[in-house]
Amino acid sequence: MHEASIAHGILRGALAALPDGKKITRITIVAGAQVSVVLESLDLYFQELSRGSLAEGALLDLQQRAGKLVCKSCGQIHEHVRGTPVSMICKTCGGANRLDITNELFLESMEVEDLQDGGAK
Ligand SMILES: [Zn+2]
Repeated sequence: MHEASIAHGILRGALAALPDGKKITRITIVAGAQVSVVLESLDLYFQELSRGSLAEGALLDLQQRAGKLVCKSCGQIHEHVRGTPVSMICKTCGGANRLDITNELFLESMEVEDLQDGGAK
């Protein structure tokens, strides 16, 4: 499934970037406007896959990027709000817009904290 492979990729990327002696508490993912991801489902897979790893219990944050309307004449960029009609006419100069949406998905940032050392002082 879609979300399962995404969750796997996120976990792998996050663990690869994790400094020694830390664990992951929160992961922020950015998805392009064209990407449809169900956060609940993604979270479920992530919690399952991360069990026993240094990312166990980490919170997932999903930020969905808005599409952008870019004017072909003056270059003005307007953000397109999901679910609203796409305006193909530039508000600034009346020129023609193109809709710029992406299907990117990447790990933007993560928060980590020190591992509690298991009794070793
Ligand atoms: Zn324009």
